[in-house]
Amino acid sequence: MTPVRLLLVDDEAPNRDMLSRRLERRGFEVGQAASGAEALAALDRERWAAVLLDVQMPAMSGLQVLEKIRERWTQAELPVLMVTARDASEDVVAALELGANDYITKPVDFPVALARLRTQLARRDAEERLRASEERYALAARGANDGLWDWDLGTGEFHYSVRWLTIVGREGDGIGPTLQAWLDLTHEADRDRLQQAFDAHLAGRTPHFESEHRLHHASGAYRWVLARGLAVRGADGTTVRMAGSLSDVTAGKVVDQLTGLPNRMLLHDRLERALGEAGEPVAPCAVLLLDIDGFKLVNDGHGRTHGDDLLRAVARRLDRSLRPGDSISRSSELAADSMVARLGGDEFVVVLHDIADPLDATSVAERLQRVLARPFTIGDREIFVSASVGVAMSGPGATPDDLLRNADTAMHRARLQGRGRIEVFELAMREEMVERLQLDTALRQALANDEFLPHYQPIIDLQHGRLVGFEALMRWRRHDGRLVPPAMFIPTLEANGLIVPVGQRFAAAVCRQLRAWRDTVAAGLPLWVNVNFTTGQLAEPDVLDTLLGAIADAGIRPADFVVEITESSAIGDVARAAETLSRFRDAGLRVVLDDFGTGFSSLSCLGELPIAGIKLDRSFISSDRRHPAILQAVVHLADELGLTVTAEGIETDAQHAQLRGLGCGFAQGYLFARPLDAEAATDLIRRGVRWLPAHPEDAEPTAA
Ligand code: C2E
Ligand code: MG
Ligand code: MG
Repeated sequence: MTPVRLLLVDDEAPNRDMLSRRLERRGFEVGQAASGAEALAALDRERWAAVLLDVQMPAMSGLQVLEKIRERWTQAELPVLMVTARDASEDVVAALELGANDYITKPVDFPVALARLRTQLARRDAEERLRASEERYALAARGANDGLWDWDLGTGEFHYSVRWLTIVGREGDGIGPTLQAWLDLTHEADRDRLQQAFDAHLAGRTPHFESEHRLHHASGAYRWVLARGLAVRGADGTTVRMAGSLSDVTAGKVVDQLTGLPNRMLLHDRLERALGEAGEPVAPCAVLLLDIDGFKLVNDGHGRTHGDDLLRAVARRLDRSLRPGDSISRSSELAADSMVARLGGDEFVVVLHDIADPLDATSVAERLQRVLARPFTIGDREIFVSASVGVAMSGPGATPDDLLRNADTAMHRARLQGRGRIEVFELAMREEMVERLQLDTALRQALANDEFLPHYQPIIDLQHGRLVGFEALMRWRRHDGRLVPPAMFIPTLEANGLIVPVGQRFAAAVCRQLRAWRDTVAAGLPLWVNVNFTTGQLAEPDVLDTLLGAIADAGIRPADFVVEITESSAIGDVARAAETLSRFRDAGLRVVLDDFGTGFSSLSCLGELPIAGIKLDRSFISSDRRHPAILQAVVHLADELGLTVTAEGIETDAQHAQLRGLGCGFAQGYLFARPLDAEAATDLIRRGVRWLPAHPEDAEPTAA
C-alpha cells in the first residue's frame, strides 16, 4: 500500500521535526514546509492527502495560506487541519469559516491529533470513492438529464433534486423528504425489489446500488427509471450517506427497437389501464394478435436483413392503417382509438377500444389482412405476406395477460387452419390447447420410452384369397398397457415434428419383423409390408436414405416395402410430390395412394404420379355409399393405368363378393382380420388361412 502523504507546515523547525517523526512512525510519509510560500509551492508540485497547517506564521499566516488552498481545492479534495494555540478560539472559528476541515491545538496531544487526522482522511477517501463511482456511472456527467438524490442516514432525510421530481411530474408539489416517499411512488410489483436493493447495499452486500423500477407519474402513467447510487462510509465503516442518480429509461423500455412501435411492456401498460381495476366498469376492448404466415421462410430465403425490413414495413403499414384518416378508421369508427404494438418476432398486436362485438373485431382484422395483402417491395423483390389472426374480447375481470394469452391461443388455432385465417377465442380452445400441450409432453416421453409399436392388418389377394402382405398400423402402448389408436396422436406428432423420428423407428421395426417372418413362418412366401407416411415425413430431405438404410439393415428388399401416402399430400403439390415419389420408385420401393376417394379424387392426376397402386377408402366401399358404377369405373381406370387396387374396410360378405366380382386385386377389412399384434399376425401366417367369398352356408374363412 502506498503511504499517505501529509504536508506539515510550521515555521518552527523543532515543532515540525517532532510531529513528523511521530507521524512517520505511524506509517505516514511527511513533507515539510517552513512557510506559507513553501507550502503553496509544495502543493503545486505534488499531490498530498492532507495538510497540517500552523496558524501562526510570519509573512503569510496559516489563514492566508488556507484561503489560497481553498481557491483551488475543496474540503473533500484536500483536507486541511489547522494547528492553533490552545486559547485561540477566534482563529479556530475563522479557520473553519475559511474552509478548514478540523483543528488541533498546540502543544499537540498526539493521539487526539491522529484520530482527527484519520477521520478527515477517511472522509476524503469515501468522497473520492463516491466521485470515482459517480464517474463510473456517469452520475455527474448526465446531470442534466438525471435526477439526483442524497440520503443522510444520520437524520434519515432524503433530498430529491428538481430533475428527480420532474421525471415523475411532481416538481410542483414535491414529495416528502423520506425514502418512504420514493417507495410510495414505486409500482407495487417493484416495491419490494427496490427496498431490497437499498438494504443489500447498505448492508455492504452489493458494491453499488442499482435498481430498475416503475414510478408513478403525476399523470397516472408509470415511468421506468434506473436508480444508481453509492453509500458513503465513515471511518468506522458505518454508512453516513447514500447518494446517486435517477434516469428515465421509459423510452428504451417501451419502444420496440426494430420497428419503433410500442413494445410488449407498453402494450401491457396500456391494456392494464384500458381494463381498469378489478370490479371497475370499463369500456370493452378487443385484442388482435397477428402472426405473419411463413415469416421464417422470408428470413431463411431472403436473409435476416430483408426479414427485418419486412417487419418494419409491416409495422408501418399496420400503424398507418390504424391512424385516423386512413381507410380503415374512415370506413369504420371502430379503430379510431387503437394502438398497434410489436410483441416480438413476427407477432403484432392491435388493441381496439370500445368494441364489444367479436364481429366488429373480425371485420377490422379482415381489413388489416387486406392491407397486408398488397405486395411489399423488399430489396429488389416483391414479397407477398398474409397473417393469421387471433382475436380475444375483454370480459369481466380479464387481465392483460389473459387477453394476450387468449388471443395467442386463437391465433394458433387460426394457424392450424392454414394461411390468412382469423379465429375468435373461445374457452374450449384453451382446454384444447392445454390438452394438446399435455399430449405433446406425453408423446415426447413415449418416444424416449419406445412406446410406439406396430399392429398388422392382413392384405389379401382377392382372387385367390391368400395373405399377401400386412399394413403396419401404429399403436401407442401407454405404461398402463392401454393401446391408443393413431387418430389420437398422429396429428400431434405431425404438428410437433416428432413424426419423423417416431416414423423412422417404426419403419425399421416393421422391416425387422418382416425379416423375422421370412426367417421362420413365411420362408419362401411372397409377403410385403405397407407403412403409412405423412406429408411431414415425406418432406424430410433424407427420408429415402433413412428408409433404404433400415431396409438394408433388416436384410429385406426395397420391393418388399410399400409406402402409403395420403391422397391429399400427393394432390397438394403434384409436381413436388411426383419428384419425391420418383426417387422412391427409382430406388425400387412401391408407393400406393391411400384413402383414395376421400379427398379431391382427381382421377386425372393418377397418371402423373409415379405410383404403383391405390387404396380405395372404406367410405367408398361401405354399403350406404356404395355406387357400383363409380367403383367399376375406378377399378377399370386403375387397371388401364397399370395400378393395383386395394379395397379397404371390407366388413361384409357382400362387399367381398362384389369387389372380387369387379376385378379388384386386393382387400383389407375386419371381415378378414382386424389389425393384429405381432404374435397374432405370426400365428395367422403359420395357419395359412385362405379367404374366399362365403356361400351362405360357409361363412367362416377356410383353412387352405
Ligand atoms: P389408414 O392407413 O387408412 O388405415 C386403415 C384404418 O382403417 C386403420 O385404422 C384400420 O384399423 C382401419 N380398418 C381396417 N379395416 C377396417 C374395417 O373393416 N372397418 C373399419 N371400420 N375400419 C377398418 P387405424 O389403425 O386406427 O389407423 C388410422 C389411420 O392412422 C391410418 O389410416 C393411417 O392414416 C394412420 N396411421 C396408422 N399408422 C400409421 C403410421 O405408422 N404412420 C402414419 N404416418 N400414419 C399411420
Ligand atoms: Mg394406410
Ligand atoms: Mg386408408
